[in-house]
Amino acid sequence: MPKLSSLKELIARKSIHSLSFKLIVAIGGLIIVGSLTFWYSIIYTSEEDALRTTANHAKTYINLIKKSTFQYMLANNTDAVQKTFESMASEEGVMGIRVFDCNGAIAFSSDPRDVGKQIPGNSAICKICHEDPASPAKSLKFSKSSFKQPQWVVQKKDDTYILRSVIPIYNEPSCYTASCHFHKETKEKLGILETDYSLSDLYSMTKQQNIAIASFGVIFTALTSVILCIILWKIVIRPLIILSEGMESVSRGDLDHRVNINTKDELGMLAKTFNSMTKELKTSRERLENWAKELEEEVAKKTEEIKRGQEQYIHTEKLASLGRMAAGVAHELNSPLTGIVTFSHLLLDRIPPENKMDREDVEVIIEQAERCSKIIKGLLGFSRAMPAEKNEININKTLRHSIGMIKNQAKFHNISMEMKLDESLPVVNGDASQIEQVFLNLFINAADAMNDKGEIRIKTSNIQIDNKPYVEIVISDTGPGIPEANMSRLFEPFFTTKPVGKGTGLGLAVSHGIIRKHGGHIVVQSRPGEGASFLVRLPVPDSRGRGMENEDGHNEKTD
Ligand code: ADP
Repeated sequence: MPKLSSLKELIARKSIHSLSFKLIVAIGGLIIVGSLTFWYSIIYTSEEDALRTTANHAKTYINLIKKSTFQYMLANNTDAVQKTFESMASEEGVMGIRVFDCNGAIAFSSDPRDVGKQIPGNSAICKICHEDPASPAKSLKFSKSSFKQPQWVVQKKDDTYILRSVIPIYNEPSCYTASCHFHKETKEKLGILETDYSLSDLYSMTKQQNIAIASFGVIFTALTSVILCIILWKIVIRPLIILSEGMESVSRGDLDHRVNINTKDELGMLAKTFNSMTKELKTSRERLENWAKELEEEVAKKTEEIKRGQEQYIHTEKLASLGRMAAGVAHELNSPLTGIVTFSHLLLDRIPPENKMDREDVEVIIEQAERCSKIIKGLLGFSRAMPAEKNEININKTLRHSIGMIKNQAKFHNISMEMKLDESLPVVNGDASQIEQVFLNLFINAADAMNDKGEIRIKTSNIQIDNKPYVEIVISDTGPGIPEANMSRLFEPFFTTKPVGKGTGLGLAVSHGIIRKHGGHIVVQSRPGEGASFLVRLPVPDSRGRGMENEDGHNEKTD
């Protein structure tokens, strides 16, 4: 139900331009005009009918007077005529009865004082028989033609309305053959009989009747208007207000707004269409919002990829310059170190066994020099530009060979190896000894992480990345996993968490370099406390042998 305030607002805002206002004015106007015409015609015709009925009575009355005095007139009994007039005039409403002779003198009258009085020649009553163009009597309009029946007019006399009836008295054979022989046979009319009948009662009665009819008309019109307004409000204005409020809500963005009009008429259909349109709009907006969200996510994803690509590029560049520097340093240090180790061994041979202190010192020199040599070998491996050889490699075979090399070592005695190898693996191109070096690094790291006790799971499979075939080797352990903070630094050269003397921080950097040179990449998955998995992915060459491009190639997948 719309609030009264909003209705007032609506009326104030839309005023004379609103449909409701126009409808009310049009229908109200029609009702008022129709009612006025109807009730006026009723009042008018009832007044006319009442007057006509009274006039008919007056006609009967005047005929009655004429007939009742006829015999007295024949007998020239003027007293009896006079008495009859006086007696008949005493009837209620009768204001006067007169007979005019042809000279305009009053021959008989209900008021004896009038008898013998002369009326002016231009009186209306005289005009019935005598034409006088100089002074026509316009107030009374009696018809002269075929004047056999009584005629009547309404006239005002002394502040009251009267009905004046007249009838001529003809000179009939019985008149001029009567014993008195008073009138000549040639005379057509002997005079005119006139009666005045008061209309006061009739008018006061019709006035009361008119007031009653008008009151009834006003009440009827008012009631009809109120009922019509209620009907109009219920079936047109209220649904229109609900619809208009609904549209305003929707334009403010509230697409959950529904209009509640359950009629089966045009407005009900409009409401139904409006509701389904709002629902459609909501669905479209949600779809648009989803698209925008998806687009945002896609942009964020691509931005992240570009960022990672840039980071990877910087990392690769860093590794490349480090590799070049390491190669130079390693190359320069390798020869003097070989000399130090060789000559230390010669020196050790020359020191007698009893000179234990000197021997121990030289042995330390040899041990440290050999450690330096190991680091340099690592650096050389890291900086190597291309795989030395490029052959077809059976990854399962290479894995088994690598495991064969370590399984007898004391470090792996308490470690179980679980293998799940896909025997349908395609071959990959590359240097088997370098790939073997990668596997060995990963095995040693796993064993170190597990403190030489636990399980290493090895799994191979054929996968697709961006619709390109890859061989995937997963090496997982049951160690403590890798802390989140270290994840991004694993492949940095010289990054190690192992104690001094045990780790060089080159194992993963070298492995990363080797795998990248083979066109592949390494992915690390780990959660602290749940072990670590290293996923080595190598591309499967296509029929033309492509699939082992290095960083300079175009189908490289970054880590
Ligand atoms: P190094 O073995 O000489 O430390 P690496 O490059 O092989 O050098 O390894 C770098 C570091 O990565 C290690 O010191 C260790 O912290 C972490 N790491 C490598 N493999 C694992 C693994 N399987 N579990 C936990 N940490 C590992």
